[in-house]
Amino acid sequence: MTHKVTLLPGDGIGPEVMQEATKVLECLRDEFGCAVEWEDAAVGGGAYDIFDDPLPAATLELAKSSDAVLLGAVGGPDWDDLPRAKRPESGLLRLRSELDLFANLRPAILFPELADASALKSELVAGLDLMIVRELTGGIYFGQPRGVEQRDNERVGFNTLIYRESEIERIGRAAFEVARRRSKRLCSVDKANVLESTQLWRDVMLEVARDYPDVELTHLYVDNAAMQLIREPKQFDVIVTTNMFGDILSDAAAMLTGSIGMLPSASLDANNKGMYEPIHGSAPDIAGRNMANPLAMIQSVAMMLRYSMAQARLSDAVEAAVAKVLQNGLRTADIHTEPHTRVGTAEMGDAVVAALRSAA
Ligand code: NAD
Repeated sequence: MTHKVTLLPGDGIGPEVMQEATKVLECLRDEFGCAVEWEDAAVGGGAYDIFDDPLPAATLELAKSSDAVLLGAVGGPDWDDLPRAKRPESGLLRLRSELDLFANLRPAILFPELADASALKSELVAGLDLMIVRELTGGIYFGQPRGVEQRDNERVGFNTLIYRESEIERIGRAAFEVARRRSKRLCSVDKANVLESTQLWRDVMLEVARDYPDVELTHLYVDNAAMQLIREPKQFDVIVTTNMFGDILSDAAAMLTGSIGMLPSASLDANNKGMYEPIHGSAPDIAGRNMANPLAMIQSVAMMLRYSMAQARLSDAVEAAVAKVLQNGLRTADIHTEPHTRVGTAEMGDAVVAALRSAA
C-alpha cells in the first residue's frame, strides 16, 4: 500500500523547512523502498492571497483523502490585520477540527549535544525524552456556556470545563498506545482534588488502564506535575492530560529543551491519521535567508513514519540521522555554539540525508 501524504508548506520559513523534509522523503522512497507519494497544497497567508481563503476547499479535500498531512508553518505580519476568519491561523484551526485531530502528541527531546541550550542544569535535562499527549478538541477551550455578561451590576466572565466520558476514553486509549510503543509508563495529570470533571478524567483513565495491564499508570495533580517537570523532568516518559493543562505543560516542557527549531508534533484522529508539524511558527524574522533549522520539520517526518505509517524502523533511522549530524558538530544559527560548524537550512537537510543514505 502506498501512503499518500499532503504537504502544506505554508508561509515564512515553512516552505524552506518543507524543502528539506521533501529531500528526506525522496531518500526514504528511493533508498529504503518506502511506499510513499506526496502532493503539495496551499494553506495560510499564501492561500489567502490567491484564493481569498486560508484553507481552500481543494486543500481540505486533499488533506481528507490522504493518510497524513505534513505542515510547515503559517502566518506573518502581512496577514495580521485580516478579519479573524481570514487569518492564516484560522485556516489551521479549521483544518485540525475538520480532520477531528483530538490527540496532540508533543515530544520534548533534548539531544545530549544540545544540553547547554536549556535554562536548566545540563545534567537535569541532557538526554531528556518525554512525550505529552494533550486532549485537543474538548475541555474548557470549547465548553458551553461561555462568555462575559452583566450580573448584579458588574461584569462576570465564565467558561465551562466539560468532558464526556467518551472523549476521555479516546484520549486515554491514544496515550496508552503511545506508552506501549515507548517505555510503558503513563502519568495522567488532573486536578481531581478540586474539579469534578477531572475526577471523572481520573476514573475513566483507571477504567481504560484495565485494557493495558502492561502499562504502568500513575496520577499527578497539575500543580505538582508542573513542579516535577522543572525539578526532575527525566522521571517522566508519557504524560496525558486535558486540553488546557496540556497547553501549559507542553510549552513548559518545550522550553526545558531551549531549542524551538528542534521540536516536532503530531495531532492524530481515531484511526491514526495525523497532521505532523514543527511546534515553531513561520519565523518571519529569518524567512528566505537559509537560516531556519529544518530539524523540527524532519523529526515531524519521523513521527509521521511511526504513528501514521507504522514504519518504526524508518522512523528510528531518520531520528538516528538527525542525532548523527549533531554528533558531527553541525549546527544551524539557533543552536550554534563554538566550536561547532554553523550551517544553513539546506546544508543541514543535505547532511541529514547523507547520514540517512549511509545507513540504507
Ligand atoms: P515563531 O516560532 O515563528 O518564532 C519565534 C522565534 O523563534 C523567532 O525568533 C524565530 O526566528 C525563531 N525560530 C522559530 N522557528 C525557528 C527555526 N526553525 N529555526 C530557527 N529559528 C526559529 O513564533 P512567532 O514569532 O511568535 O510567530 C511568527 C508567526 O508564526 C505568527 O504569524 C504566528 O501566528 C505564526 N505561528 C504559526 C504557528 C503554526 O503554523 N503552527 C505556530 C506558532 C506561530
